[in-house]
Amino acid sequence: MSQNNEKQIEPPKPQSKPAFYDEVEIEDMEWDDEVEVFYYPCPCGDRFEITKDDMAEGEDIARCPSCSLIIRVIFDPRDFEEYDTDEGDDIPISAPTISVF
Ligand SMILES: [Zn+2]
Repeated sequence: MSQNNEKQIEPPKPQSKPAFYDEVEIEDMEWDDEVEVFYYPCPCGDRFEITKDDMAEGEDIARCPSCSLIIRVIFDPRDFEEYDTDEGDDIPISAPTISVF
């Protein structure tokens, strides 16, 4: 007998997961460039929100400010870099190579 259980098929929508209301891919969220926050509509009528800084620190939980629900944000760090290095505004400039004589 050769049973191969290496592959476990995950159900698309797990019912018994009280920790998160849902898991949402970052692509499905709404990006507000002014405040640098990702939004996702909450069933309560408000919106889940997670800031870019939160994600930069490894946070992947978006919270709704009006209720206790949370969602897990699924994102690829490589995709995140695109947002981060879009303008290059906060890239530290290394010391200039021009020497003052
Ligand atoms: Zn809510």
